Amino acid sequence: MEFRSGDDSAAARLLGAAARALEACGTGADAPAAQGLDAVLLRAFHAYAAPLAIVREDGAVVLANASWQARGAGVDRASLCAALEHDSGIGLVQPSGAGEAVAGQVLRLGDLILVSLLGSEGGAGAAPAAPWQARVAELERLVATDHLTRVWSRAHFERLIEGEIASAHRRRQPLSILLLDIDGFKAVNDGHGHAAGDAVLREFADLVGRHLRAADLLFRWGGEEFVVLAAGTGYRAAARVADKLRRAVAQHRFPAVGRLTTSAGVAELDGGETPLAWFERADAALYRAKEAGRDRVEVDPRGNSDRWAAERGAAPHLQWHESYESGQPQIDDEHRALFDAANALIDAAAGDKGSGPVAAALVSLIDEAGRHFAHEESLLEVAGYPELPLHRRAHAELLHRARALLAQVRAGQAAFGDVVDFAARDLVMRHLLAADLGYFPLFAGPGAAAASRQGGR
Ligand code: GH3
Ligand code: MG
Ligand code: MG
Repeated sequence: MEFRSGDDSAAARLLGAAARALEACGTGADAPAAQGLDAVLLRAFHAYAAPLAIVREDGAVVLANASWQARGAGVDRASLCAALEHDSGIGLVQPSGAGEAVAGQVLRLGDLILVSLLGSEGGAGAAPAAPWQARVAELERLVATDHLTRVWSRAHFERLIEGEIASAHRRRQPLSILLLDIDGFKAVNDGHGHAAGDAVLREFADLVGRHLRAADLLFRWGGEEFVVLAAGTGYRAAARVADKLRRAVAQHRFPAVGRLTTSAGVAELDGGETPLAWFERADAALYRAKEAGRDRVEVDPRGNSDRWAAERGAAPHLQWHESYESGQPQIDDEHRALFDAANALIDAAAGDKGSGPVAAALVSLIDEAGRHFAHEESLLEVAGYPELPLHRRAHAELLHRARALLAQVRAGQAAFGDVVDFAARDLVMRHLLAADLGYFPLFAGPGAAAASRQGGR
């Protein structure tokens, strides 16, 4: 079945989902067979408060939501046909029997028409017709958001996961899920009441969200379980992210209840497995974390990042070491992320997929470095680092060089060696592992000893 796309694309998806569901189950009845098509939109259609129906040109109703069945059942076919004469917009639907006329909004897409009953025509509450696009967008937003915490909903996860998996395979980028479950949450409710429990859930979601990269997505899975979907992240990096979140939770004071901990299970997408199989591995890891005493991260140690690394052979990789830590947690997390981004860039350059993936990896690295440099500069400012002006210039110079390299890559003029020189030598060896040592003594981490041996810079 074909639908017009373009300005009404959201509504077209709604109708498209319903039509495909109908085709899948062969009847106008509720559609268990629609699972896996666009079941979320179909559920939203059924749950939508206003009466909605999808009808044919001849006025036959092919799918009606619950509200239509309750209120619109009296609308006869002839009056529906009359309403359909309006090309698009508002038509009057005259129910059979003694019922009042109601305004119906009509949206035509291909050979199906979406009709919504808006309320009694001329009645006090007759709502002005919101444009369809806005109503469908509102409906989608409601379905996509968890009402309590305002993070993404499980329904949204289910809707986007297939696309995320396809894109990870296409781009040969790892993809990981982190499953977080608050420890002993039942005791929060039991000891402080359900409202305090709700406040903790909101605060937990805020706290976790603040510690994620912009590219990571946070979903409430249900109850006190949350899922992070981390694109471009293999299981090793995902385990580090999970541990960072675990530490952030353990260190946080929740005003309503004091201290709390969380356990986490991590799994990276592996081969062509289904989302369910993938999720079950994360769930099993979470179960192990709970069994092992909670406030822990467990990881399922396999995934496409290993598979692809094995296929790629011997591209050199930068290996993180504890002695590279400054002791400032945010800086150290971001430095690890820069190692990962530099490795991804080297992998892209070592691959044989042309300059597109190299440019994409370099853009990610530039984004990551730009954000990190800004954070680092403000932390060093607070710490009163005397060499900050020099350090700022070093950052600006690195970003400048990175952008020049990007132009070269895009013009097809960068060799593998140019990319490695920048990622491994300029950024990592000369900056993160040399220039940065100058401020390590401010934070007294494991790297401070190395810094004092080298005298910093
Ligand atoms: P564990 O460490 O094994 O995870 O123990 P737990 O107590 O956290 O886990 P359990 O699954 O036994 O309890 C989860 C509790 O979360 C039970 C349920 O009442 C509560 N809960 C689920 N959804 C909500 C909600 O929306 N608000 C509040 N306040 N509580 C919720
Ligand atoms: Mg639980
Ligand atoms: Mg729990």
